[in-house]
Amino acid sequence: VQGKEFDVIVIGAGHAGCEAALAPARMGCETLLLTINLDKIALMPCNPAVGGIGKGQIVREVDALGGEIGRNSDYAAIQLKVLNRRKGPAVQALRIQADKKLYEDRMKSVLFSQDRLTVMQGTVASLMVNNNNIEGVILNSGLEIRGKTVVIAAGTFLRGEIVIGDIIRPAGRMGELPSNELSLSMIDSGLRLGRFQSATPPRIDFRSIDIDKLIPQPGDDEPLSFSHDLNYGVKQQKPCYLTYTNVKTHEVVQNNLYLSPIKTGAVTGHGPRNCPSIDRKIINFPEKESHPVFIEPEGWNTNEMYLQGLTTSLPVEIQEKIINNTPGLENARIMRPGYAVMYDFIYPDQLKPTLETKLISGLFTAGQINGTSGYEEAAAQGIIAGINAALKVKEKEPLILDRSQAYIGVLIDDLVTKGVDEPYRMFTSRAEYRLVLRSDNADIRLSHIGHELGLISEDRYSKVKKKEKFVKDMVERLSRENARASDDTNSHLENLGSSEIKEPVSLIELLRRPEISIENLFIFMPELANKPINDLKHLEIEVKYEGYIKRQLSQINQYRKLEEKLIPDEIVYTELDGLSFQAREALSRVRPISIGQASRVSGVTPADISVLLIIIEQYRRKISR
Ligand SMILES: Cc1cc2nc3c(=O)[nH]c(=O)nc-3n(C[C@H](O)[C@H](O)[C@H](O)COP(=O)(O)OP(=O)(O)OC[C@H]3O[C@@H](n4cnc5c(N)ncnc54)[C@H](O)[C@@H]3O)c2cc1C
Repeated sequence: VQGKEFDVIVIGAGHAGCEAALAPARMGCETLLLTINLDKIALMPCNPAVGGIGKGQIVREVDALGGEIGRNSDYAAIQLKVLNRRKGPAVQALRIQADKKLYEDRMKSVLFSQDRLTVMQGTVASLMVNNNNIEGVILNSGLEIRGKTVVIAAGTFLRGEIVIGDIIRPAGRMGELPSNELSLSMIDSGLRLGRFQSATPPRIDFRSIDIDKLIPQPGDDEPLSFSHDLNYGVKQQKPCYLTYTNVKTHEVVQNNLYLSPIKTGAVTGHGPRNCPSIDRKIINFPEKESHPVFIEPEGWNTNEMYLQGLTTSLPVEIQEKIINNTPGLENARIMRPGYAVMYDFIYPDQLKPTLETKLISGLFTAGQINGTSGYEEAAAQGIIAGINAALKVKEKEPLILDRSQAYIGVLIDDLVTKGVDEPYRMFTSRAEYRLVLRSDNADIRLSHIGHELGLISEDRYSKVKKKEKFVKDMVERLSRENARASDDTNSHLENLGSSEIKEPVSLIELLRRPEISIENLFIFMPELANKPINDLKHLEIEVKYEGYIKRQLSQINQYRKLEEKLIPDEIVYTELDGLSFQAREALSRVRPISIGQASRVSGVTPADISVLLIIIEQYRRKISR
């Protein structure tokens, strides 16, 4: 690597870094991926699962763009389940329980076999910055490596410290060295860093669990996958289990709260509110007598079981007491204790929507370092940062997904526009257009972009176009073809709890009935049964929710009008007297690219936006004169 200039250097081989390295290499860029430890690539330090509500949609989107997280999860799956099946299509999402080791191994082999990608163990100590341009990195061995662009995806490692009880040790994760010098180098370069924390529950030995006292949680028995083009079929699966804490469990926590790092102050910085520790639950909801605990296997060849719901960084002996006072876990043995990690993050309002820093040209950041939590959020930022680094090298227009195109757009817009005051995770409620941003149509929404970038093969893209055409054609056919008002039809409808028909009714009308699914139309149109289930489900949703989808599409048109009103880069907000003081300060900091983005900056009022619109118009006229 010495003497060579890479197009893209990626720091960190976590969930963000892997995507950030694969995308540019696949787009033709000479790419270097640096990581502290080659044996810990794509490691899952927290829950052994990918996807779920809000996050599952992100995985499908990354896959549609040509990323790896979806395929990797499919490959490593030990349990697959669609969550929220009984709710509307906007909030349904796949969750995959993964074999952690298989997950790492496959990602490693994908990276190692990728052309133009060099993977190397090395700890970056500082950034080479000249005149606010990135020029490369310096490793702690002193080795200088030149790069046209750099993506930092350092996760929880920046000045990382782990905490158990009153013990605080420098570490990026349990058993791994932290990355201290890189933090200081970022600060020296003028970047603002903050401090967050996150925690993980203890892992216990499967053999020490009393399975009979637990409620089994099997997976779904059908071929499911994140990936749009690969499907490993129905797999052998491992069950998860459910138990509940009770008053005895809570008593142990309550009696030992004085030892809890969140009480003693050993843990500082905000943690993820949506993922509270058991200590926090007892503090915040003292009246609750029980909380669910999901017990999840971490792989095929390990006895380790993850305790979702029992996150804590209390001293290990107290962790054991909490566990042993939970039904079914009376004799459970801890294999790895729970712990908290504190780390530096970069305030994401210093980033452009491309994830490039505004301050240093060519420097991008992605993943947990941007104030998010979660593998999926990390992967999404990784692929976008990687793509944009490659596009910058190629001197091409950047890729910015907006809030109406993808959850990824929502995620990045939230980060760069609103900033974060706690680790950010995705929820479906964050997306205004979630009926359009569904899991089932992620390929249709985004594959053309992946294809244009060279990340999706011609063959794969043509299948997406075929699916799109199939749905369009079928909507027409279902409108044309009728069910006859025969005895057979009516007895079929009666069996489905649907009212009878007295004259011919179009199949599309029947499908619009809530109680009738696409499978129920097979008797009227038998060839449907041979079509892929994913395409059929997509068709069904498009028909059943047509009215709502249309309404959302017209809202999107309105939204786009403001997104397309770009704000010239030259605007100096501090000089704009017509704006409120608060708006001037906020807009100077965020520097939104469009009126739409400006309207979402906190502190900016509709009155400020009206003023801004006039100023932009005046500026345009001046320029054109
Ligand atoms: C204790 C703990 C609890 C967590 N709890 C949750 C949770 O509750 N919910 C949730 O969704 N997620 C949780 N996570 C977070 C989840 O693990 C991350 O969101 C995800 O792994 C972030 O991916 P990433 O790629 O940004 O960083 P990581 O996966 O952390 O990867 C960082 C990579 O950067 C490398 N690196 C760092 N510094 C350098 C350097 N100077 N030079 C070279 N390489 C470097 C590391 O070696 C590593 O490969 C938790 C993580 C931990 C450790």
